[in-house]
Amino acid sequence: MSLPDKYYGDLNRRATTKLLEQQGEINDLRARAEQAEAILRQQLDPYPCRYDHHGECQEHDRLADGTCMQARIRELLNATPKSTPAGDQR
Ligand SMILES: [Zn+2]
Repeated sequence: MSLPDKYYGDLNRRATTKLLEQQGEINDLRARAEQAEAILRQQLDPYPCRYDHHGECQEHDRLADGTCMQARIRELLNATPKSTPAGDQR
C-alpha cells in the first residue's frame, strides 16, 4: 500500500468512526426527546387557556417568562412529529 492509500484509508476510518459516534448521539437525543414528549403529553390539561386583559392565562400555571405552560406544551407537541418513518431502526 502506498503512503497516499494508507493516508486516505486512515482518514476514511476516522471519518467513519466519527459518523458512527454522531449517529449514536443522534439516537440518544431522539430517545430523550421521545421520553420528554411522553412526559409532556401526560401533563396536557384538557381545558383551554383563558386570557385576561393583560394577555395572561388565568387557567394554567405560567412559566418564568410569563407564558402559559399549557400553551407552550401544546405548541411544542404540535411541532413534534407524531411518528417516525416506517422502517426506522433504533
Ligand atoms: Zn393556558
